[in-house]
Amino acid sequence: MSLKENLLNFFGKKIELNQQPKTWNYDQFKAYLLLLSHKPEATLLYNQYPRTIQLSKNWHELFNQTRNESKDKYERYAIIGYGPDFQTLYLSSKAAKGTPRDIPNETAKNERDKAIGNNIEFVGDIHSHWIIRKNPLQIFSIGDLHHFLVSVSREKIICLVAPDSNLLAFPSKETDSIPRPIYVPQELFIKIWKKQSLNSWDATMKIAQRHKLVIYSGKPNKELRRITT
Ligand SMILES: [Zn+2]
Repeated sequence: MSLKENLLNFFGKKIELNQQPKTWNYDQFKAYLLLLSHKPEATLLYNQYPRTIQLSKNWHELFNQTRNESKDKYERYAIIGYGPDFQTLYLSSKAAKGTPRDIPNETAKNERDKAIGNNIEFVGDIHSHWIIRKNPLQIFSIGDLHHFLVSVSREKIICLVAPDSNLLAFPSKETDSIPRPIYVPQELFIKIWKKQSLNSWDATMKIAQRHKLVIYSGKPNKELRRITT
């Protein structure tokens, strides 16, 4: 079955595959994530991602709760997964506490193990940046994108709860054909991109452009708008 047929038939829900469709409602977003989680070859081309995505009330509630908890200056971490029936998208009910600087690998692994114990397969994650900061980081850090590019074969989406916005990042079909920084240590990757960028926002945009990642951003409780064109 072709990718198009797969998407059209997925749970009987229609996903339009026009070039850059205008918007995905939550059901379309969910169907795509579930499809990606067990059919990585279904990853869309960079230009096939929509301009806006609408999330459900549950997602916004978890984002808001996570943002609120991060007021203590500790990053938070939550899991996105799917159940054995492939029809249920799972979100952690509460985000785990990281450190003020990052999410330790052990914290992430614990959360993933907990999900596996509940028959949940991992598809992506959510982390937060603090709410109180002199220069709050309102975008994925270079380190976040390095981590995503290295683990993109098992991680299909990353989400960021920033102080004033929510962000999502997806890989595109083109991401696969660009050599990924698997053998470039994170520290070096950060150093290289910092040198070529004006600030964090500029660095994220340049890395996304280079690796054809699709990034969305939106205000709390609002739809997410594509910021990589
Ligand atoms: Zn981060």
